[in-house]
Amino acid sequence: MSDLAQDLADFISAAPTPYHAVAEGVRRLTAAGFAEQPEAGPWDDSPGGRYLVRDGTLLAWFVPEQAPPGTPVRVFAAHTDSPTLKVKPRPDVGAGGWRQVAVEVYGGALWNSWLDRDLGLAGRLALYDGTTVLVDVHRPLMRVPQLAIHLDRQVNQGLKLDAQEHLLPVWGLGSPSDGDLIEFLADEVGVEPDEVAAHDLVVHDVTPPALLGEEEELLAAPRLDNLASVHAGLGALLAAADDVSVSGQAVIPVFVGFDHEEIGSGSASGAAGPLLETVLTRLAGGFDARGAAFAGSRCLSVDVTHAAHPNYLGHHDPTHRALPNRGPALKVNANQRYATDAPGAAAWHRACRDADVPTQVFVGKNTVPCGTTVGPLLATRLGIRTVDVGIPVLSMHSARELCGVRDPGHLAAAATAFLTDPM
Ligand code: ZN
Repeated sequence: MSDLAQDLADFISAAPTPYHAVAEGVRRLTAAGFAEQPEAGPWDDSPGGRYLVRDGTLLAWFVPEQAPPGTPVRVFAAHTDSPTLKVKPRPDVGAGGWRQVAVEVYGGALWNSWLDRDLGLAGRLALYDGTTVLVDVHRPLMRVPQLAIHLDRQVNQGLKLDAQEHLLPVWGLGSPSDGDLIEFLADEVGVEPDEVAAHDLVVHDVTPPALLGEEEELLAAPRLDNLASVHAGLGALLAAADDVSVSGQAVIPVFVGFDHEEIGSGSASGAAGPLLETVLTRLAGGFDARGAAFAGSRCLSVDVTHAAHPNYLGHHDPTHRALPNRGPALKVNANQRYATDAPGAAAWHRACRDADVPTQVFVGKNTVPCGTTVGPLLATRLGIRTVDVGIPVLSMHSARELCGVRDPGHLAAAATAFLTDPM
């Protein structure tokens, strides 16, 4: 693997949940000299790199020496969450001599992709003392077993799964007993089980990322949507921080990775909430200064896009489809499911030209409604011109997705140019 692909694989493996993605992001930012801005503390407007954490959401920015109040920002926005199975508050269930874990579906998961995988379990435990503890059982612990074909000969005519009945992982034999799972997890992280008051836990595939193809030009991994973008954005912020320090450009590069995009962004830490607006207002030097700052600002909304699927080419627009390793795609939709407009597109093309990075354009087929991103939400909330882009992947929302091994590097380079663009 190239250094960058290996680093992305390491990042993905370290980030089975949004909380872990934030922790790994903080580790990398701290190593680069960024300091924490506590959300409830006094605002530090001195030059330098800062980050702010709220649950599964991470913000980071770099204020150059020459940035007075009202300096415009260049925002890189992505999301830290991915579709998965989330453990219910009372997890210990079972049937027929098996111990199982009660789960709900989180986001628009491809349910079938979670079958017969070796699953770990990760998330956070909330203790009675008000603290939270991260936990990651990063080894095969459970599995959602398929029904043998002998017991349903019709299954290949169309698999039907009932989310309540058919998606419960097994994690052993015996009778379930209340408290078993939390006792196990508390033991993993060294806390007393009766200190644990609540939990946010999801399953994850423990198979490591891998290169594919004769030329090893493809990367298979879980959570490429959207950790590939988060990883590129953190790299771009650090590169941009160096650039603006040297060049004297009066822009503030900002990174944000939001939790809860896959379930509509409506939460205290999600993109539909006030968190980014609050931080940008404080960065601008207050409400009076922010109008001018926002008017000169731009946002790059970065989320994976659909690669043209060879077995289903008819689902794509023939002249606006994307292929891996041809660069991140500009995403356009007339109905503003993507926030891109022509001046925003021009800013993206300028960034790609400056970074010498290829790019392509994705538009959904007129008869196939496309997804959306945090882009339109942020544009609506902030009134900041926003551009939607993303690297192409196959199998979006599968437990294991596939992208081009060169596109993450292309994305980081183009995003660095976007984050430092003074125009
Ligand atoms: Zn996404």
